[in-house]
Amino acid sequence: MEGRKTVLFIVDGLGGRPTDMDGQTCLEAADTPNLDSMVSDGSGGMMYSVGKGVAPGSDTAHLSILGYDLDDIGYSGRGIFEALGYGIEPGKNDVCFRTNFATVNEEGVVEDRRAGRITEGQEELESLVNSVELNGADFVFKSTNQHRGVFILKGEGLSDNVEDVDPHETGVEIKKCVPEKDEDSRRTADIVNGFVEKTRSVLEDADINKRRRKDGKKPVNALLLRGASKPLRLEPFDEKYDVGSFCVAAGPLYMGIARQVGMKVIKPYGATGDFDSDLLAKAKAAVEGLEDKNFVFIHVKGADNAGHDRDADRKKKFLEKVDEAVGYLLDNLDWGRTKIAFTGDHSTPVELGNHSDDPIPIVYYGEGIDRDSVVRIGEKWCREGDVGYIDGMDVIPGLLGTSSQPEEEGF
Ligand code: ZN
Ligand code: ZN
Repeated sequence: MEGRKTVLFIVDGLGGRPTDMDGQTCLEAADTPNLDSMVSDGSGGMMYSVGKGVAPGSDTAHLSILGYDLDDIGYSGRGIFEALGYGIEPGKNDVCFRTNFATVNEEGVVEDRRAGRITEGQEELESLVNSVELNGADFVFKSTNQHRGVFILKGEGLSDNVEDVDPHETGVEIKKCVPEKDEDSRRTADIVNGFVEKTRSVLEDADINKRRRKDGKKPVNALLLRGASKPLRLEPFDEKYDVGSFCVAAGPLYMGIARQVGMKVIKPYGATGDFDSDLLAKAKAAVEGLEDKNFVFIHVKGADNAGHDRDADRKKKFLEKVDEAVGYLLDNLDWGRTKIAFTGDHSTPVELGNHSDDPIPIVYYGEGIDRDSVVRIGEKWCREGDVGYIDGMDVIPGLLGTSSQPEEEGF
């Protein structure tokens, strides 16, 4: 495709705090010649993906950066993205949940939310769960990765206004699915509660658990449900911005979000959605895809995982790998007609091992982007950039030059 090209590069959990590495964030400490050269010729700034004071989840952060106003879209949970991420296409009235195989004791107290991160027997477990009979609704259950899976309730008169069954901690009982007050929600919660109970009894006596107990392993005897959601009705990304877009990602959540907004998704061979991902393969897929399309959203995940693991060295190393991928983009795209926004979805400081509300560095570079005084990538340098502090919703308008204040903001 001729004409202008646009790249949105999101490093999950990019931002950090000076406590990461002896007074420097992982990004500041990392050896990043390509990103430094990019920001030297472009503009730096800081971004609050969902708003100041909010430590967002990756789901809401991405929706906001892609330009979908969380107050308007009626978003209730991640189930739908998980389903789409694994290539399942739910019907428009279906309610999707994310699930975990878990271990509970006789009283229903959760002992392990991941049943020891099971690595085998998922097919057997999947067919056991699918043998459960429900009154009043059909369902599909799919085991996806280790202990994770997707549960989809199918039919009319269902609601996603129901709370999680997953207590999100151990040492407490599985929760009852609590509905909102309307009839559809109550009906949905009844069905879910019946399902959870029946699943427990089917799993409890299953052969796989007899074997596991004999081997000294924890039984897989419960399914925890969370993140109820129906498919969202969002304006397709391409119509919203008048572009031809695609996404290069490997994490199911991100592939799911991209599919929900109508993007074609490419998961190159070797891309894993984790630290070991082949980021060069992703950069190559982006460059190739831009021959036919004009907007690519690239997502990489490893920095966030390292942040959650409180592993500063690993986060720094991953950011150096990101830098190599950025180098490939710099070498292989025509920057006379290409623009990039390089940023994260939130900060994941090593100190917290979790997401924080710290603003995230953002860099704009390429055709038509003015150069400011920032010469290195990193929180303390980007803070001084001409882009200033922006919101997630402003990222793409700034990139496409449709922002209401492009000139004075230095885009
Ligand atoms: Zn994230
Ligand atoms: Zn995270």
